Amino acid sequence: MKRILIVEDEDVIRDFEVINLKRSGYEVVDVPSGEAAMEVFDQNPFYFDVAVLDVMLPGMDGFEVCRRIREKNSAIGIIMLTARSQEMDKVNGLMIGADDYVTKPFSPSELVARVDALHRRVTMAAERAQPQVVTELKSGPFVLNTKSRTVTKNGKLLDLTQVEYQILEYFFQNPNTALGRQDILNRVWGEGYFGDVKIVDVNVRRLRMKLEDDPSHPSYLTTVWGFGYKWMQEEN
Ligand code: CA
Repeated sequence: MKRILIVEDEDVIRDFEVINLKRSGYEVVDVPSGEAAMEVFDQNPFYFDVAVLDVMLPGMDGFEVCRRIREKNSAIGIIMLTARSQEMDKVNGLMIGADDYVTKPFSPSELVARVDALHRRVTMAAERAQPQVVTELKSGPFVLNTKSRTVTKNGKLLDLTQVEYQILEYFFQNPNTALGRQDILNRVWGEGYFGDVKIVDVNVRRLRMKLEDDPSHPSYLTTVWGFGYKWMQEEN
């Protein structure tokens, strides 16, 4: 999925961008302010491929949003939207790490063409950097990213400890497979761990609180009685 973040305070322009980019196959998250943009972005700094930032925003402006996004993700593509007269904007934008500019007013085809071109460049660079390594494991509403060691559910970042993440990674690599508690213990805590397998149960219980819709009736991280646990993944 091609994911894009749109920051634009004017409803009409924002709707226009959203409609046209969705129509072109993008998954779009749109927000009306820089503050809201950072809230969404910080949930998972590696979720979006491209951000389209309006320069003139109330409160935190587009340049500041650009600077903060770039601080946390050097790979994301960033397009700034500027008014025709704002030539100085381009100079400032270059210094804070934007990749491209679109001047207002713009046509749908111009916007989509620029976003497409940048998206292609960004994803090609990512593929070159990691030719055959799969960094995203998907399962139902979940996406596990082995590079950032994060997991999202419906695009929202789950707040996991490193141990919880490692357990989940093991399950994502072995979907629909019963994994013994001792296996999980060896894998995550190491063969030499001198402790009780109950620590696995404790972590699984905590994981369920974070990822299940109804933690007392788990539908993803299920129990295999007398043995261990199983990650349920629907076949596509
Ligand atoms: Ca504006």
